[in-house]
Amino acid sequence: MKLHMARTQATNAGALAFLSRPDKRLLIAGEWVEAREGGRMPCIDPATGEQIGSIAIAGPEDVDAAVAAARAALKSGSWPGLTPAQRGGLLWRVAELLEQHLEELAELETLDQGKPLGVGLYAEIPGGIGQFRYFAGQASKIEGATIPTSIDYQPPGKRIFAYTRPEPVGVVAAIVPWNSPLVLTAMKLAPALAAGCTVVLKPAEDTSLTAIRLGELFTEAGFPPGVLNIVTGPGNVTGVALARHVHVDKVAFTGSTETGRAILDAAKGNLKRVSLELGGKSPVIVLPDADLELAIPGIAQGIFFNAGQVCVAGSRLYCHSELWDELLDGLCAQAADLKLGHGLDPETQLGPLVSRLHAGRVMQYIESGIGDGAQKLAGGECGGDNESFVMPTILAGVRPDMAIVREEIFGPVLVAATFDDTDEVIAQANDSHYGLAASVWTENLSAAHRLAEQIEAGTVWINGHSLYDASLPIGGIKQSGWGRDSGRRAVENYQELKTVCAVI
Ligand code: NAD
Repeated sequence: MKLHMARTQATNAGALAFLSRPDKRLLIAGEWVEAREGGRMPCIDPATGEQIGSIAIAGPEDVDAAVAAARAALKSGSWPGLTPAQRGGLLWRVAELLEQHLEELAELETLDQGKPLGVGLYAEIPGGIGQFRYFAGQASKIEGATIPTSIDYQPPGKRIFAYTRPEPVGVVAAIVPWNSPLVLTAMKLAPALAAGCTVVLKPAEDTSLTAIRLGELFTEAGFPPGVLNIVTGPGNVTGVALARHVHVDKVAFTGSTETGRAILDAAKGNLKRVSLELGGKSPVIVLPDADLELAIPGIAQGIFFNAGQVCVAGSRLYCHSELWDELLDGLCAQAADLKLGHGLDPETQLGPLVSRLHAGRVMQYIESGIGDGAQKLAGGECGGDNESFVMPTILAGVRPDMAIVREEIFGPVLVAATFDDTDEVIAQANDSHYGLAASVWTENLSAAHRLAEQIEAGTVWINGHSLYDASLPIGGIKQSGWGRDSGRRAVENYQELKTVCAVI
């Protein structure tokens, strides 16, 4: 397999300037500081294996300092004390700065994470910008309610006046994964800050660069010190210290279901509020009347976009037997056409996985599936000498008990089965401990909406997959998580509701 590696270096002046400052630091109380114990870990371009910088490893004392800075900004009122319009204005300013630095950020994301440049340029960085714009507007739309009560024991001549006040939950720890670093970070920061909270952000250790650049842009936008603090480092050091910290009021987490459970344990100490956006194994159901001109590219995109490293990736295909041959031929042709290479090469459509380690895990799943009797229709191999790449893979003839059907692979691997009966396919789609997303492909509107009701998932798409917008709530049921990011109600993740009840 030929990898497109003609261009592997940044060209954007901003990205080059950022990369030329190789030792990235922690952002605490408005200052960029070294970790107290001086530990560092490398940032690796997964397509080439080259080191492109290093990040500081924040230990417990650094985390203490970051949490204290966030608490001080909260208590001093330097953030929650601003008017809603001022908070919204600063969030909007961040969106403008992100837009000005779009190409730079997209290059950094590609070098750090591996994704094709276009994914950052046209989908993910604009997605992050959309979050800051949407929640800039929400900052001035936070309202309580006056509540008529039936309390009838007040003193003679007195009345009851009762109302609610949504208040910021306090210091938020935002812990995010590596698959779509900037947009997933924005999905936490924008609503938390709109609500008046202050934040300590921990990006994933494999992909911290755009978070650090975002921190610089926050300073440029004019955010007061301590409103956003950034601690980098591994989950088992920095993440654990933050999730356990007794002065953190809320953990907003996106990542694997396994780590979600660890976060819950860590949050027990001071009964932190927790919201969890976790893994998925999203079913894709194709009914016999589906429009294949829409379905073939849509389903291929739903699993192969970002090399399948997408929580909502449509990774379990259930196709009606009448369409099986045509749909699978079309999907295999799409898989074979995808050009693999360095994300900066303009020819590249599919980048490497985030690391050689992760690509190895994905290859093990493929091998286990074939060992269990699945039939390889496409791909199934890594990128020759370069073991960070995995070819877009389709495995057919799968059974519900196989690990490749039950577990999240988080790579470009589609597992496919046929069905003849709609009740049977609903049962199979719902036979999962995940419940993040699903898609249904049909021209029959009634059937589509009936299936949307019956599928156990936080989001159901009809004749599309992975359609995101800052206005659309996203999150899971079952073991895919607690709560929703995006959408009007996401701000409530970061609020406590105080009731005031007065005798007047
Ligand atoms: P992960 O759970 O390994 O790590 C996520 C973050 O948690 C990282 O910053 C990591 O350093 C930190 N972390 C790890 N262990 C920790 C601990 N014990 N305490 C505190 N922090 C800890 O996940 P990942 O491999 O980076 O990301 C992939 C996973 O994220 C997939 O399962 C994917 O489905 C999920 N995801 C979910 C959504 C969603 O919206 N539901 C979106 C994107 C990714």
